Amino acid sequence: VNVGPRVSVPRLCFAVLALAPALLGVEHVFGQGPATALTVLSRDPRRAIPVTVVGGQEMVGLDDLATSFQVTVRDESGALTVSYKGRTVVLTPDQTIVSVAGRVISLPSSPVRIGNRWLVPIDFISRALGGIYDARIELRRASHLVIVGDLRVPRLTLRQEATGNGARLTVDIMPRANTAVAQDGNQRLTIKVEADALDVVFPPGQVAGLIQGYRSVDVTTFALVLGPRYASFRASTQVADASSSLVIDLIPAPADVPPPPTTTQVESVAPAALAEPPALATLGSGVRTIAIDAGHGGDDIGAKGADGTTEKVVTLAIARKVKASIEARLGVRVIMTRDDDRRVAVTDRTALANNNKADLFISLHANQSFRSNVTGTAVYVASFEDGAVDQPGLVPERLPVFGGGIRDIELVPWNLAQIRYRRQSEILATAIAEQFRERVPLAARPIDHAPLLVLESANMPAVLIETGYLSNAEQARLLGSADFQSLLAQGIVEAIVKFRDASTGFVEGAVR
Ligand SMILES: [Zn+2]
Repeated sequence: VNVGPRVSVPRLCFAVLALAPALLGVEHVFGQGPATALTVLSRDPRRAIPVTVVGGQEMVGLDDLATSFQVTVRDESGALTVSYKGRTVVLTPDQTIVSVAGRVISLPSSPVRIGNRWLVPIDFISRALGGIYDARIELRRASHLVIVGDLRVPRLTLRQEATGNGARLTVDIMPRANTAVAQDGNQRLTIKVEADALDVVFPPGQVAGLIQGYRSVDVTTFALVLGPRYASFRASTQVADASSSLVIDLIPAPADVPPPPTTTQVESVAPAALAEPPALATLGSGVRTIAIDAGHGGDDIGAKGADGTTEKVVTLAIARKVKASIEARLGVRVIMTRDDDRRVAVTDRTALANNNKADLFISLHANQSFRSNVTGTAVYVASFEDGAVDQPGLVPERLPVFGGGIRDIELVPWNLAQIRYRRQSEILATAIAEQFRERVPLAARPIDHAPLLVLESANMPAVLIETGYLSNAEQARLLGSADFQSLLAQGIVEAIVKFRDASTGFVEGAVR
C-alpha cells in the first residue's frame, strides 16, 4: 500500500461553486432564493409540502405528509407510526433507524418534535413512505421535486453562449423527449416538451442582446425572452440513446436596425407574470456527467482467462450495463471512453472525461495473478509519491490577468489533477466496495491504493475497479457471464446514487 500524506483541500468550495450558477439562475428569473417547499408532482394537481431546516437538515412535517399522501399518523407511547393501506412505518424519537413494513432502513437524522408537530428528514418520503405506498415515489433532492407514480419528468440542462454575431441555446433533455419551438409575438420563443412536468435549471445572465432570460409558461413549457437584436431562429434536435438535445440558434437583425425601447424587455421578464411556482426551476445535482472507462481494447486485450475470456471484452460488457442503468435510473449523462473494440491511449481516457467536465470517472478492469487461487473484486484509488501533494503548483498563485488586475489562479500539474479529489475518490471507492460486499466476492483488500496512470490526471473523483481475477477459472467464468456483470453494474450504480445523494446533501447544507 502506498498512501501519500493526506492533503486538506476545501472540498466545499468545489461543491458550492458547482451549484452557484444554478442558484443565480433561479434568482435571475424569479427574484428569490432556493425553494423552501417540496413540489409534489402526480396525476393530481401539484401541491407543495413546506420544508423546515433543522440543524442543517431539510425536514417535513408528518402532518403535512398525512394530508398530502392520505397516510394515518399516530403518536403513542414512545413510537410514531405512519400507515397506508395496512402497511406501516414505525419511527422512534431520537432514532435514525426506521422500520418500513418490517424492513429496517436508516434516515440521515432522527424525527424532531417542534411544538406538537413531528418533523422527519425529507428522505423519509422516498425511503420510508415509498416503501409502503402503492405508487413509485421519487425524491429529487436537489430540485425539491417529489414525483409520485410513473410521470415523465425529464431533467433539462440549458447552456447559452454567444456564437460570433448570434447566440445559441442548447437544451439537454434526459431522458429524451420531443420538443416544439415556436415564436410568440416576436418577444419570446416558447419551448414545449412532451412530458408530464419539467425539472429545469435556467442559466443566469444574458447573451449579446439576443437572450434576455427565461420564464416558465406552464408545466411543460418555458419561454426564452428575446433581446432587442433578435431577428429569427433555427432549431434542430439531436437524439442519442437515452437523451436528446435541442439546439436553438438565434440570428441577429442587421446592425442598422435600431433596438426597440428597453421597457418592453423589462416588462417581459417581470416575475409577476409567472404562471408556475418557483419550485419548478431547480438547483440540479452535483453529479451531471459520469465517465465510464472500459479498460483496454483493440490489440490491447488485457488479461486473459484459460477459457479465452479477455479483459477487454469483460470491461466493455460491464461498462455498457453501467451506462444503460445510469441513464435509466439517474438520468445523467454518461460518457464512454470507448464503446467498441478499439485501442484508446491511457491519457486520452482521462482527457475525454476532463474535457467533458465529467463529475466522476470509473475505470473498469479485470485482474490476473500468477497464483490461480487469488480471487475477488477490489476498488482502487490513486496514490501519489510522498511529497507530490506539496508541490508548489497546488498552491493558488496571484497572477496579473489580461485587462489589468490580479487574480488567484490555481496551477495544477496536469498529471497530478487527481490529488485534490483523493478524499472524494476514497468516499466513492468505499461506497462501491460496500455495494459489492452484498453482491460479489471481494478481494482480501477490497479498497486499495496504487499509483495508477489512468487515474492521476483525472480532474474529478476517480476510481479503478478490478472486477475479478481472470487467472482463476471460476472467476473467469463469472466475469464472462451476463448475470455477474449485471451484479457488478448494479453495485456501481447503487454506489453512485449513495455518493450523489451524500454530496448533494452536503452542498445544500453548505449553502444555507
Ligand atoms: Zn486492466
